[in-house]
Amino acid sequence: MLKFNKYILLGTVFIVSVFISFYFIDVFSKKNIDLQKQILIKQAQTHFKDQLNTRVWNASYGGIYAIPKEGQKPNPYLRDNILKVDENLTLIKINPAWMSRQLSEISNIDGFRFRITSLKLINPDNKATPFEERALKYFEKTDEKEYYEISKDSNFNYMGALLTTNYCLPCHKQQGYSLGDVRGGISVSLDSREYFEVTSSIKTRVILLKVFVVIFLFSIFLLIFKQLRYNQQLQAEVTHRTKEIESTKQLLQEIIDTDASFIVLADDKGVIYANKTILNFTGYHSIEEFKKNYEHMSDVFEKVEDNSNFIQTYNDGINWIEYLIKEQDAKKLKVCIKKDAKYRYFKPYAKEIKTDDKVLYLITFDEITNEYIKIKELEHMASTDALTNLFNRNKLNDVLKKSIALSRTISAPLCIIFLDIDHFKKVNDTYGHDVGDKVLINIANIITSTIRSGDIASRWGGEEFMIILQATSAVHASMLGEKLRVSVEEHVFETVGKVTVSLGITEYINGESEEAFVKRVDEALYEAKGTGRNKIIVK
Ligand code: GH3
Ligand code: MG
Ligand code: MG
Repeated sequence: MLKFNKYILLGTVFIVSVFISFYFIDVFSKKNIDLQKQILIKQAQTHFKDQLNTRVWNASYGGIYAIPKEGQKPNPYLRDNILKVDENLTLIKINPAWMSRQLSEISNIDGFRFRITSLKLINPDNKATPFEERALKYFEKTDEKEYYEISKDSNFNYMGALLTTNYCLPCHKQQGYSLGDVRGGISVSLDSREYFEVTSSIKTRVILLKVFVVIFLFSIFLLIFKQLRYNQQLQAEVTHRTKEIESTKQLLQEIIDTDASFIVLADDKGVIYANKTILNFTGYHSIEEFKKNYEHMSDVFEKVEDNSNFIQTYNDGINWIEYLIKEQDAKKLKVCIKKDAKYRYFKPYAKEIKTDDKVLYLITFDEITNEYIKIKELEHMASTDALTNLFNRNKLNDVLKKSIALSRTISAPLCIIFLDIDHFKKVNDTYGHDVGDKVLINIANIITSTIRSGDIASRWGGEEFMIILQATSAVHASMLGEKLRVSVEEHVFETVGKVTVSLGITEYINGESEEAFVKRVDEALYEAKGTGRNKIIVK
């Protein structure tokens, strides 16, 4: 509807513009033609006035006597028409009317002509032409004193009214004229060819100008029309494209929102966008609310001490996103987020997106809580003794290797204690295997509660336990060993009562192998067993 109106308006403006242009062209051309006519009128008026003046001059003398030309007879309509001056000279009277007629007869040069006439003629030969009759009747009917006609077929005909003056009255009173009456007229006929040539050339030019104006305006309006059409098409295209982009955006939004992963878009200043999954997880309804609370996503990362692959806001002095981009392929990086008092684990992945003016980061977080817990359980199982919950022999070997390496690096003393329950076979044999197991568990507990927090205890196998004492000399190790021995000796075991243990203790000798180190502590224990049991031997 709106489009339709636009074109109707354009068409209307075009038509109005054409008409306005035509109107001004017509006004201008009419003025020009009128000017040409005015020139003719002025010419005719000048001739008319000349005649009038000549007549006034003649009348002022009451007629002029002149020498008659050859064959010229006196005017029979005039009184005193002959004046005999002497034998040889006779003059005839020429009054204004006759003078005008005579002048008129000799005036016919190049289409120019003038005549004096009246509706009430004294001289019947001087009958008015049809034009003159129309003019004289016009003077009778109106107060106008001028009349003219112009047509292609005849000359330009002008007539000025002759008014009765004091000079006229003596002759014309008998015709019934009084002062100021129109008594007749002097007609002037002028060649109108030039006038028609000029006006026809003006008309031709007007037609050409109008054609030009129409073409010019049409071209302008065509251009406007085309521009309008182009704009309309462009607008339609833009609308179409916008819709397409909008629906693609919506689709993408839906895909992103239904993705199980957390999807975050951030720049170096903070979070720009977060998908619905993360909003639902954090309990916020809108991205704005989310952004208010999580300017930096890393604010919610929990600190996990025992695993270097968990990232924090800063890692090795680098911002977490940069760190992620740098290390994500080499390390299995993780983040831990607490939700409803439970730890949840995620695998982050960041991608740098470079736009024209800034760098954005698209970060996804895939939940790996179940996998992580399973791995942790497997790791625990692989390194822990199921009965006593202490590290197993394998794990202890690992720890021992690292402890030896650390001891070498920092030149700190390192000791190990090898503990074996005395006559344990007898316990089993007497009270059964289950009671034996309980003794094993009790002894493990005694060990755990007696050693210091940095010391590491393990079940080496059967009823044997190995303890690593980091940064501990043999003197302090033997004190701890003795404390352990006494704790067991003093403990009253359920069903079994008293149980004792023997302990071998040794300090690492810098540069020796792990096997030599363990062999020496085994020898120490062996010596304790061989020399009476329930004792410590330091080797
Ligand atoms: P000694 O004082 O010389 O060490 O004598 P012992 O009897 O303690 O030593 P021996 O090596 O002869 O026996 C160890 C016993 O430990 C044998 C076995 O029945 C028992 N034992 C090993 N593992 C377990 C276990 O997991 N549970 C129970 N209940 N007993 C175990
Ligand atoms: Mg043993
Ligand atoms: Mg034993």
